[in-house]
Amino acid sequence: MLKVLKFGGSSMASAAQYEKVKAIVEQDAARTVVVVSAAGKRGKDDHKITDLLYLCHAHVRYGVSCDAVFGMICQRYLEIRDALGLQTDLESELAAIRTEMENGMSEAALASRGEYLSARLMADYLGFDFVDATEWLRFRMDGSVDREWSYAALRKLAAGRKLVIPGFYGAMADGSIRTFTRGGSDITGALAAAALDADVYENWTDVSGILMADPRIVEDPEPIPRVTYSELRELSYLGAQVLHEDTIFPVAEKNIPLNIRNTNDPSHPGTLIMERFDEDAGGDDERRFITGIAGKKDYSVVSISKRGLSSEVGAIRKVFEIFETLGLAVEYTPNGIDTFSLVVSGSKLEKVLHSAISQLEEKLAPDRVEVTKDLAIVAAVGRRMANRPEIPGRIFTALGREGIRIRLISQGPCEVNVILGVDGKDFAAAVRVLYDSFVK
Ligand code: ASP
Repeated sequence: MLKVLKFGGSSMASAAQYEKVKAIVEQDAARTVVVVSAAGKRGKDDHKITDLLYLCHAHVRYGVSCDAVFGMICQRYLEIRDALGLQTDLESELAAIRTEMENGMSEAALASRGEYLSARLMADYLGFDFVDATEWLRFRMDGSVDREWSYAALRKLAAGRKLVIPGFYGAMADGSIRTFTRGGSDITGALAAAALDADVYENWTDVSGILMADPRIVEDPEPIPRVTYSELRELSYLGAQVLHEDTIFPVAEKNIPLNIRNTNDPSHPGTLIMERFDEDAGGDDERRFITGIAGKKDYSVVSISKRGLSSEVGAIRKVFEIFETLGLAVEYTPNGIDTFSLVVSGSKLEKVLHSAISQLEEKLAPDRVEVTKDLAIVAAVGRRMANRPEIPGRIFTALGREGIRIRLISQGPCEVNVILGVDGKDFAAAVRVLYDSFVK
């Protein structure tokens, strides 16, 4: 049994958090590979070390002294080390970073030092070996990860050892450091889990899993106990933010379960993400048809009406071509017999609206083109909704009862989600109504 654990910034923010991490790791002998983030915020008004590192780089670039900012970074790590009674020689590490900075260190190399220092400290604290991400995580020229090379390298390095690895960065073939986009330590953890064929990838953060709805809209929403990778894609696309969006692919590909856990509440089982769940047929959360509710505002709908449109060969292709050349992604396409609608980002459409309409007029000669602005999309996502003919009806009844007008409806054949368009002003109310009727 092998478990790969990733601890996010809040789990690495202070000596007290390091103590919690150690207790978690030592609780289970299978927890042998630990990936860490840079120190995050200790409270609302605190700073993330990675933000400070980017800030340092900007100071140096514009010739402004970064002493104060760099001092904050040094202080944080030295404080953690001293409070834990570790002997790690951070002074030389910090001095080396300072010198490199003055010699034109790249932004990526500097930004990566937060994870590097965290991993050095955590390795000493746990008594694990430190393995630098540059030793195994290899980027190609196009910015993608060379998985084959990286997996083989990590497998070799990890054999029979307990490791701490810094997240967020790796190296190009020439050795230069490259980072993922922000929040990328999640991806490092997923790659390490995939490389080592881990039994589970535990992603430790400061919430007890993925919440069923946005806590800014629904008060105290419950966490999702189990979610499939495809449900999670739907939920994240529409705004549920827990993991970096590229985290899923490496683990999903190898069918490795991903477990989101809370460092501050380690006995909570969190959210388990898997390809599918065998117990769905009669499992413990059977009463729950909906896995989660997500949504986004700022959509517009372009509706094209023309008599005979549905039998006009190539008409839909022409519409898509127009939107493609304008660089507008079409997210949903609800349609009627002679009406075809495209749901697109409202702010993006605004920039090219005149061109879009004039091209549609010219190439399609429609009877009418209408634009409906300020629409929100709300989606009820749930694998258990399939084969439940009563679910869409219940959704519509619940919204209708609250006087929420449904502007568009879309449900795919796999029945994993019901997508509704509502007026922007009804967005929060629609999410709340769905939560209250299906979860509470
Ligand atoms: N420290 C990096 C960031 O703040 C990466 C991470 O934490 O995942 O974006």
